[in-house]
Amino acid sequence: MNKINYDAALQDIIEENLRLNKRPKLLLHSCCAPCSSTCIERLKDAFDLTVFYYNPNIDTEAEYLLRAKEQQRLCENLNVKTVVTDHLSEEFYAQVSGLEGEPEGGARCIKCFNLRLNKTAQFAKEHSFDFFATTLTLSPLKNSERINGIGKAVGEKIGVKYLPSDFKKRNGYLRSIELSKTYSLYRQNYCGCEFSKK
Ligand code: SF4
Repeated sequence: MNKINYDAALQDIIEENLRLNKRPKLLLHSCCAPCSSTCIERLKDAFDLTVFYYNPNIDTEAEYLLRAKEQQRLCENLNVKTVVTDHLSEEFYAQVSGLEGEPEGGARCIKCFNLRLNKTAQFAKEHSFDFFATTLTLSPLKNSERINGIGKAVGEKIGVKYLPSDFKKRNGYLRSIELSKTYSLYRQNYCGCEFSKK
């Protein structure tokens, strides 16, 4: 079976928006400021963009607040709206109980993606966004096909359109490193949860 080219699918939607002079409302779930930088750059002309920072997976309150602050600083620089939730780490631990020893990319991460995309879609639905999306497909360590599959299923369940992406394509990750330097962004060296730190 042919693999879906999620990056091409996104580019088609962007070109269509620009051609029709439409700017649909998009809620972009962001894992962190550095990853979001490339995504925002690619999306902000074609969408009325709001960044949604909900990451209960992050291990400590201090780390959560630091990443959230960097997210808000970047968005202010790029003139993009942000919504930052409380840390809500209990929501993450409730989901991944029993999966603490899983390797990165395994069953715990699927629960983690599901949790974050569900909350994003729910917020998008409640606030009349046209689409929701996620920055998670930027990371070379994350399986974009899996993330897009979860996003599509969550969107269908909640009743809001999921915007496909594969932000790591076209040197997206390298571009995020360049933009992180431009904006002097804090770049963490672990995914987020206490288990990924080990
Ligand atoms: S390794 Fe990353 S994606 Fe996986 S559970 Fe931990 S924070 Fe979530």
